[in-house]
Amino acid sequence: METKKIAIVGAGISGLLACKYTLSKGLHPIVFESQTGIGGVWTKTVETTKLQTPKPAYQFSDFPWPDSVTEDFPDGRQVLEYVESYAHRFDLIKHVKFGTRVLSIGYDGPPGEAMRSWSLWGGDGGPFGSGGKWKIRVQDCLSLETETYEVDFVILCVGRFSGVPNIPEFPPNRGQEAFHGEVIHSMDYAAMDYQAAREFVRGKRVVVVGLQKSALDIAMECSAVNGVERPCTVLYRTEHWIVPDYLPWGVPLVLLYLNRFSELLVHKPGEGFLLSLLATLLSPLRWAVSKFVESGIKRKLPLEKFGMVPKHSFLQQISSCLVSRLPEKFYDRVEEGSIILKKAPEFEFCKNGISIDGEVEPLNSDLVIFATGFRGEKKLINLFESQLFQDCLSGSPNSIVPLYRECIHPQIPQLAVIGFSESIANLYTSEIRCRWLAELLAGTFKLPSIKKMEENIEEWDKYMKRSSGQYYRRSCIGALHIWYNDQLCRDMGWNPKRKKGFFAELFEPYGPTDYVSP
Ligand SMILES: Cc1cc2nc3c(=O)[nH]c(=O)nc-3n(C[C@H](O)[C@H](O)[C@H](O)COP(=O)(O)OP(=O)(O)OC[C@H]3O[C@@H](n4cnc5c(N)ncnc54)[C@H](O)[C@@H]3O)c2cc1C
Repeated sequence: METKKIAIVGAGISGLLACKYTLSKGLHPIVFESQTGIGGVWTKTVETTKLQTPKPAYQFSDFPWPDSVTEDFPDGRQVLEYVESYAHRFDLIKHVKFGTRVLSIGYDGPPGEAMRSWSLWGGDGGPFGSGGKWKIRVQDCLSLETETYEVDFVILCVGRFSGVPNIPEFPPNRGQEAFHGEVIHSMDYAAMDYQAAREFVRGKRVVVVGLQKSALDIAMECSAVNGVERPCTVLYRTEHWIVPDYLPWGVPLVLLYLNRFSELLVHKPGEGFLLSLLATLLSPLRWAVSKFVESGIKRKLPLEKFGMVPKHSFLQQISSCLVSRLPEKFYDRVEEGSIILKKAPEFEFCKNGISIDGEVEPLNSDLVIFATGFRGEKKLINLFESQLFQDCLSGSPNSIVPLYRECIHPQIPQLAVIGFSESIANLYTSEIRCRWLAELLAGTFKLPSIKKMEENIEEWDKYMKRSSGQYYRRSCIGALHIWYNDQLCRDMGWNPKRKKGFFAELFEPYGPTDYVSP
């Protein structure tokens, strides 16, 4: 039988996992990577960046962290070394074509009308049913020469946190063009050498826009360089539950949110009457757990003093995959005045800095750094030549990017996306998705009808809107890891229950090593 050719775009963690598991099924993957090395976002981080997720949850199921890494939260360099040793251990590097950017992908198969008449994905619910081919147009990043590859299946692993920066829009003449200082995005800062980054901010009045991890790391670095002489202002829109550690009142957070019992407290997509009733009956407990965590955070951090108590619950924070760890001694810097926290729901640029809605005096500054994240979906969608597929992936502006099992678009044949939907430990989630995909490619199971997949996507869409509020487009499965994994396990014919005994099954936290073998 002809061996199917698979193109994987991206050699970050998701692309490497996709490579490993497609190889394990005897397929021929070729991985296109625009950079010169593997590791994706971990190839270049801000100097002080550390893993947010505790190390045991962010590990390959069959490749533990080395004993030499003793920290619970390794730094960026250690993460990259771990990923590189994984790639060497499983001999993945030889499948990667470095310095090769995928410019676009075009589908050469049945016409649009034929596809629209299908009731099953690709015509028969299998990965290669429609018999089409994808044409992958790539460019050598050095010579700029282009080339086209023809493959049977495409796996997009282009990541969410790089590429297209998310910069807020401003009215004409109120954006950065009005400002006489400099404006960059956090990705430009991260791209600098550590020493160059320090010199770049030295002596400048810096404003960092954002309150997520990169914003806080950059603010810490600026305050270390400039001290109280030239404080760094952090401009934010919404307060967030940023944890000092994962032990509220001494109780590990994983016991509160990463076991089956914790998921019983939450309404789940497709849960049925009994589970729905149980989640409703247990809602006071759900509320109490969230309050318990919130009070634990407030006990350790001076949130009230600095007006930083969020209005939403911790459960919403974790359900939006927005939980991050506060850099050590962050509030010491706020107390001493080298970091200033400033709420600014609306602002615009003026000649000397930033003008905040409702404030008379502008915030004078020399440098504004947008740590406002990325537009990951744009990067994904722009890869498609076909407007039809671009529209399919965009979905509706008021819904999540429509992916069945967070991997497959029901209307786009012979293609999967890995690493778009977020979780608390993205490596763990990407690994199980790649195993699921490899089984699909190997023919272990077929997908249900397009209608059923769309209904399932709609259920998850409703869940995400309910649980994550305004952040639903992050497609976060953070509070339902096990429920989600159960579905993938069932598809693959694995027993979803991975623990020994009733109580262990109910209360023990789940993690990557629970899925090491079928
Ligand atoms: C600073 C930082 C800290 C983080 N900390 C955590 C954490 O603690 N826990 C957690 O779970 N997650 C964390 N994340 C999220 C992180 O993105 C994931 O954990 C994971 O590394 C994503 O891997 P990926 O392979 O899906 O994407 P990426 O790492 O983004 O890799 C995508 C790859 O695709 C390549 N690529 C993109 N487009 C093209 C193209 N057109 N042609 C060729 N190649 C292309 C890119 O060059 C890149 O190498 C963090 C992210 C950042 C930025």
